[in-house]
Amino acid sequence: MQHLGLNHRGYAGETIDIQAVLRDGLQAAHRHGWETEPIVVSPELSLLTFHRSGSRPSQRVYLSTGIHGDEPAGPLAMRQLLQENRWPGKAELWLCPCLNPTGFPLNRRENAQGQDLNRDYRQLQTPEVRAHTTWLARQPAFDLTILLHEDWEARGFYLYELNPDRQPSLAETMVAAVAPVCPIDPSPLIEGRSAQGGIIRPDLNPATRPQWPEAFYLVQTKSRLSYTLEAPSDFPLATRVGALVAAVHAALNALCARA
Ligand SMILES: [Zn+2]
Repeated sequence: MQHLGLNHRGYAGETIDIQAVLRDGLQAAHRHGWETEPIVVSPELSLLTFHRSGSRPSQRVYLSTGIHGDEPAGPLAMRQLLQENRWPGKAELWLCPCLNPTGFPLNRRENAQGQDLNRDYRQLQTPEVRAHTTWLARQPAFDLTILLHEDWEARGFYLYELNPDRQPSLAETMVAAVAPVCPIDPSPLIEGRSAQGGIIRPDLNPATRPQWPEAFYLVQTKSRLSYTLEAPSDFPLATRVGALVAAVHAALNALCARA
């Protein structure tokens, strides 16, 4: 599969109408019996959330995306997952389909005020992240959290695993499911961290870091197993969406099969 060669100094690929994508997702959620709850950020802005109990739930799973407004594959993957509605019965699910709705119309990583929301989960200076963490605090602990992203510099799909208690990993399962759909980044060093077969297991303590991405907040307060999936933006959008969807299905099925 060939690189598109579009991205220099940032993402220059296709953009999406985020409100249309969210409307489609909301329709599918209603059709398939999800509960929806808006997180009110301000009189003008709220964030969608979806919740589904499952037929015999034993695993609590949280999925989020759309925190970077120049990463369209995540919200599209979430829409596809909602439309396909193929969830394991053992999974109770919470979904945040777009955490940065003001960034997408600008095709920009940050929100409309220029703040990178995915660096604000320790300081809580932005209204979006304050509202999101207030909502998260009301939810139970999650067995698994998966955050859907893209990386415009990546040579292929890769993921970060935060797994401080060394639980059985889902990383290899996800990479194996993505490989037929999308190239895996083979680099031994990705974003300055050692990687192996597209898997980064950063050895770090969030408590010592001044800026927290969403994943650090989750692993400190809500979940001891968190994956950040990075689809490579220089490949076709359908490939990136397919990669994220395949990884989520693989992780959920593996988690529920061993539960
Ligand atoms: Zn991102």
